[in-house]
Amino acid sequence: MIESLKHINPKTKILFFAFILILFPSAILSYLGLRSIDRNAENLRTKYRGTINLVRDKLEREVIQLEENLRNSLIELFPNLGKDDDLKAWLRNIESDNPAFKHLFLVNADGGLISTSVSLGWKKLRKSQPFGNPQTAANFNMAEKAEFIEKDIVDAIELYKKALASTASSQERPLLLSRIGRCYFKIGKYKEGINEYKKILGSGNEEVTTGLVPASIVALSQIADGYKALDASEEQYNVMLELYQRLLNHPWDLAGGDYLYYLKSTSTEIQSFDLPSSNINSTERNIRELMNRGNKLLEQIRFIELIHKKIVPEIESNLKRGTFSELQPQHISFKENNSTFQLGYFRLPSAVQQSQLLALGYKIEQDYILSNLFPEVLTSVELGRDVFVGVLGEKDSLLYLQHNRPMSNYLVAENFSQLFVTWKVALFDRDGKSIEQLVGRERQLYLAFFVGIIAVMLIGVFVTVRAVIHESEVSRMKSEFVSNVSHELKTPLALIRMFGETLDTGIVTDERKRREFYSIIRKESERLTHLINNVLDFSRMDSGVKEYNFEEADLVEVVRSSLEAYKFHIRDIGFEIESELPGELVMPHIDKDAISQVLLNLLSNAEKYSEDRKYIRVGVRKDSNSALISVTDHGVGISKEELKKIFDKFYRVHTAKAKETRGSGLGLTLAKHIIEAHGGTIEVESEAGKGSKFTIRIPLR
Ligand code: ADP
Repeated sequence: MIESLKHINPKTKILFFAFILILFPSAILSYLGLRSIDRNAENLRTKYRGTINLVRDKLEREVIQLEENLRNSLIELFPNLGKDDDLKAWLRNIESDNPAFKHLFLVNADGGLISTSVSLGWKKLRKSQPFGNPQTAANFNMAEKAEFIEKDIVDAIELYKKALASTASSQERPLLLSRIGRCYFKIGKYKEGINEYKKILGSGNEEVTTGLVPASIVALSQIADGYKALDASEEQYNVMLELYQRLLNHPWDLAGGDYLYYLKSTSTEIQSFDLPSSNINSTERNIRELMNRGNKLLEQIRFIELIHKKIVPEIESNLKRGTFSELQPQHISFKENNSTFQLGYFRLPSAVQQSQLLALGYKIEQDYILSNLFPEVLTSVELGRDVFVGVLGEKDSLLYLQHNRPMSNYLVAENFSQLFVTWKVALFDRDGKSIEQLVGRERQLYLAFFVGIIAVMLIGVFVTVRAVIHESEVSRMKSEFVSNVSHELKTPLALIRMFGETLDTGIVTDERKRREFYSIIRKESERLTHLINNVLDFSRMDSGVKEYNFEEADLVEVVRSSLEAYKFHIRDIGFEIESELPGELVMPHIDKDAISQVLLNLLSNAEKYSEDRKYIRVGVRKDSNSALISVTDHGVGISKEELKKIFDKFYRVHTAKAKETRGSGLGLTLAKHIIEAHGGTIEVESEAGKGSKFTIRIPLR
């Protein structure tokens, strides 16, 4: 390579360095441009991230502020702890004042939970108390014996009534009354039984239970059964409605007492009841409303059960870890039926805890936060006209957008840090573009520029390298040419001189010998002329001053006479020569001398590049619009790779045969040039080892 560089034309060198000088800095420039776009994008991102952090903090602070208000109002208004119903009403009150929080609930030290509507495990189940009066107890025991063992129901009724007469306790009376009612039912005295049950209802105390179910509920369902036995369907229906209403108004603890069982079974029974015709219009609306309330309550119950399951273990683990400080809000979120819930809760102050109340919790109303709180907060945030705020949920689904229009990409988004852990606050560009899209065009431009420059640089380098290789090849061939030609000149000159001198001395007296010497001198001088003609013609051609003398001439004649002149020479050295010339005239426009020079070059090549099979065939023919001359030999042939190059100037094939044959590498170059000047073509078919066929085509006009 270094060696080849010495031969490079200075122009090529300058070109090469110009490429480097111009393109290298521009490549660096465009690379820097790209870098600066990246930095630009990064700056934008930092700026927007700053903004969105402020907004996010503000939104979050507002929710926390609301929680604080809720907490304060809870503490201030904490009721004198009375009945559970008071607690429920109190929770309901607070809930209606704080639309951002729903499903308020209290948790006690036993892990019980009470909400605005129902409680779950709130009260430990009370065992039934022994009778206060021994007389009552004795009668009760005898009555049970009569009812269950002796099966003397009438006697049992008498004994239960005695027991009833001996007590005034509001706890004991409903139990005894329900026993009497049951016994009447057993002996088919339904009216009497119903009357006994009705007495229970008169007491009005919902806390009184028979077993674990409120006494009034037991009484009402028994009365309904009684009316059913009496076939008094209207009365039965009305009693069932009353039962359902009572169930809705006074739910008892979910953990025991089959509240849900009563609620659901009463509701199905009412719905499947054949309504007595007189009642249809007046009650239908009423019933629908009741059923609605029932369904809503069922929904709340499901939610309370869910909360209970989530929050109680959480509180227990907080207590265990000792991280459950008073009034410090804690949050948990969980997914249920594809929606995410967010609960908040805090430990109540110790004064309240003494009455077993441990914590208060609430569900954060995400809908309210999104559609009321955030829009209101955002009106006070000055963002400029180009950007909007939005809130994204899971998988970047849009939950809220400040200016409601469809936006697909956001600039930056940040997670909330304490609340709504699945939400992000996002900043949107006015046209819904991402930062990448904002800088995208610039980046594309620079990228194209960068790629373009690199491509041009590579092409430049490729072209230069090719030129360099070509040049060094040409210069190598030139020097080879010089040595070839000098050799070519030297040999005939030496022969001419030697035979000339010998003749000059006059020692050769034999006429035959003298003739032979003359002939050698002539042939060698002919060869010399031929060579010099070739070189001169080439130099004329190369500098573009070669002139042709075109005339309409008979090509067959030109070929024949050139062949004649050559025939003797090659027959002498053992060649078989065949010619196939047409009888008719073939008259293209040609320079006769030039064409015969081409033919001589081809013949001399056929001679030079033949070994044992010394055969040459020359043919002339005519087709529709051109004259064709072909020269065929059975010599060494030319390999496929060389075929493309043999017409190049100075080119010689590097085989042993070519080396030992004399030549300048100009013969075919010249031939091609001359034929092309005639508007024709020269082609070669050849196969190494088999021979070659050169075909010249000259147009006929
Ligand atoms: P040269 O003076 O070397 O003969 P040419 O331009 O006439 O130069 O030919 C170029 C090369 O083509 C030769 O070196 C030779 O190897 C090859 N060549 C030309 N004619 C023939 C042929 N008839 N048979 C085989 N090789 C040939």
